[in-house]
Amino acid sequence: MDSAASTETSRNTTSLNDMKQENGSRLQAILDKIYEKYKDVDDGVVATYIPELGKANPAHFGICVTTTDGRVFRAGDYGKEFTIQSCCKPFAFQMALEQCGLEKTFKHVGVEPSGEAFNSIELDAKSRPFNPMVNAGAIAVSSLIKRAPVEEGIQDFVDRMSDAAHRRLRIDYEVMRSETLTGNRNRAIAYMMRNFEVIDEYLHESLQQYFAQCSVLVTCEDLAMMAATVANMGRNPISGKQVFDFQYLKYMLTIMFTCGLYDYAGGWAYEVGLPAKSGVAGGIFGVVNRQIGIGVYSPKLDAQGNSVRGILACKELTSQLGLHAFDFTNVGSSFMQWML
Ligand code: GLN
Repeated sequence: MDSAASTETSRNTTSLNDMKQENGSRLQAILDKIYEKYKDVDDGVVATYIPELGKANPAHFGICVTTTDGRVFRAGDYGKEFTIQSCCKPFAFQMALEQCGLEKTFKHVGVEPSGEAFNSIELDAKSRPFNPMVNAGAIAVSSLIKRAPVEEGIQDFVDRMSDAAHRRLRIDYEVMRSETLTGNRNRAIAYMMRNFEVIDEYLHESLQQYFAQCSVLVTCEDLAMMAATVANMGRNPISGKQVFDFQYLKYMLTIMFTCGLYDYAGGWAYEVGLPAKSGVAGGIFGVVNRQIGIGVYSPKLDAQGNSVRGILACKELTSQLGLHAFDFTNVGSSFMQWML
């Protein structure tokens, strides 16, 4: 390359870097504004049906966005830990698909939205759980990925989540104990599924695997990084490690899109338009393919069991960035493209 051409290249690189920097500052400003706008919203109630969850600080509110090239933007209480709860379900489903393949997995769990609460005690016409995002489906999935001894399957799950978050994660054993002691509804679901032979005879081990998965401690920054790993075709943006087999991620994302927010799933797809998953501790994560992962946390929940401020923050973020999957104008998505 002659020296004029090389000067030109370096000028272009500099202006691209400037552009990235500038858009990064704009994204940070958007997050700061969203945090300020909703930080005083006090609606909803902290979940108490798992007694240990009742100890959460209702004031906590964190937002985090991580790009597929590993830049992290944070606002509020992004460093506070909470249990992942139902946000574990898409990842466990992904692991079941990787271990058992599509055909076997779909013998144990369907892909239809149930329109019912997450803990409803019902199966579909084929006597399978409706989908892997309701408790019944998640317990069936846990049954598929558990190992003997059960500690090994649990460790596998924690390791995989740690690789996705690029941080060593751990289980909150107090929450797990609390959930195990009071989880009679989940036991009822498991016994019903045993009756229909959806799960094998190691029912207690399947439940132990499920309760452990729900009790992994994360921050909303972890959720955003895990989501960014998914968005980055299963490869962690920082370590470069291939954490998930990307041929199955489209199935995981589809179920998140149609069933991720319990009986608000349709409303969420309509208004927010992202594959996402919520949990009863107050976390929500969302994925924008090849662009970003979003993680939010606020423990007060609405009647469907979704984080009130989490939903508000995601709605605002996706509308400001134009991230809705079917947004034709998609101004914001091209904004995001400039970031990457
Ligand atoms: N561990 C919780 C339960 O099984 C998970 C539910 C949730 O986050 N919606 O009840």
